[in-house]
Amino acid sequence: MLSTLIYRSRISGMLRAQELHQLVEQGRERNRSMGVTGILLFDGTHFVQLLEGPEAALEQMFEVIQRDERHRNVVLLLNDHAPYRRFEGDQMALADLRILSRQEVFLLIHEKMEERASLACSDDRVFRILMWYALARGTDHSVEGEESAHWQFVADGSTAGEPLVSEPGQDCQFALQPIVDPMRREVTSLEFLIRDRDGGSPETLFASVDPEKRHLMDLESKALAFRMAGRLGMDHVKFSVNLLPKSLTEIPGAVDRLAEMVEAAGLLPSQVIVEVTEQEAISCLKAFRSAIERLRCVGMGVAIDDFGAGFAGLSLLAEFQPDKLKIDRSLIQNIHTSGPRQVIVRSIVQASIAMGITPVAEGVELVDEWSWLQAAGVERFQGYLFARPALARMPEICWPERSSLGGEREPLRSAGWARRLGVPF
Ligand code: C2E
Ligand code: MN
Ligand code: MN
Repeated sequence: MLSTLIYRSRISGMLRAQELHQLVEQGRERNRSMGVTGILLFDGTHFVQLLEGPEAALEQMFEVIQRDERHRNVVLLLNDHAPYRRFEGDQMALADLRILSRQEVFLLIHEKMEERASLACSDDRVFRILMWYALARGTDHSVEGEESAHWQFVADGSTAGEPLVSEPGQDCQFALQPIVDPMRREVTSLEFLIRDRDGGSPETLFASVDPEKRHLMDLESKALAFRMAGRLGMDHVKFSVNLLPKSLTEIPGAVDRLAEMVEAAGLLPSQVIVEVTEQEAISCLKAFRSAIERLRCVGMGVAIDDFGAGFAGLSLLAEFQPDKLKIDRSLIQNIHTSGPRQVIVRSIVQASIAMGITPVAEGVELVDEWSWLQAAGVERFQGYLFARPALARMPEICWPERSSLGGEREPLRSAGWARRLGVPF
């Protein structure tokens, strides 16, 4: 099946104009034998290449490119089936953006295109992506993380805690996972994740409870979480608990009951963040809104959990603005190689910062994911890379440290969005 693939990458080292032509020349034979055509844009630092041909050939070629030492930060921008080739012939057209004006680039792309594609281009997403990168020179259209080789993650033995005193007879337990600001080497909050008696997942636990009693159990379980938090004696850390929206809306006086539990545990309401999961669609927005207002009145923080994966997403954010927005792992996973995820997460981060909301990246597992997110302006992280949840105790945390093997030090483009918006941090 005929496919189109577009990727962006950064060259490692330098490339003179002549060498660029040689590179394209060398690839010509391989392209011909594999039935691949396309166009290559180069601006002195970045490549953007469109490849078209049989799906299997493109896959194979892209794998080679990802392993190629000359390409760094390879990001997939598009991979889709196509009805016809846009760039025919046996060639890989080349646009050297260093020597062409914008108009010349535009004309060149049109000239190299098949007539049919050229005529249809105003409606063509592939063409628009190409033009975005061809004409957006000098403007900031991409974020790049620092290379993972520059960092190593070192376990901080001092964080791991003793098990918190267990309370016999409880139907549930909690695992603790920190949310960290790695550049400040700070734990900013600690999330309490519910477990069943045997340490089983929240899903198993909730499945074992009578549906009629599920929301009450969800709410009441938080008394144990707050007591555990109280015993930790961590005054500067906030404590996050999860609640289903209905645990707040269907139980009369739910927020006041929470406030009571917080007080009984010797905590202040300002130390508590309620994370609202979107696993259940929010069926009654009015009741939900008044629960959120009540949470604010008693002084607790609110976070939208799993943002980007749930039911309400953007419309929920338009309705009410939380203190924290936790970006779901489905958007975070492999962000360093995914063009669409990068664009989406950048907009979420920009929107959050403009609304005074702290964005948090969830489920960060790879150094490259963290590095990209940090460059995009995210400062708070949760995930296995830093710490795995630990049952009834504080886990050991791993912090990033500059690796001496990493070669030359590059400036970390941290909080790029915040800077661009003129936020003073
Ligand atoms: P959540 O609130 O989004 O919590 C994060 C989940 O992601 C946790 O799963 C955690 O163990 C997992 N996680 C953390 N870092 C990583 C990572 O780097 N990679 C991967 N693959 N996973 C990571 P867990 O503990 O199984 O909880 C699942 C969900 O159950 C929670 O998602 C939350 O929505 C819900 N939940 C947890 N505790 C409660 C509770 O007390 N009440 C309610 N209603 N829901 C709860
Ligand atoms: Mn959560
Ligand atoms: Mn989540």
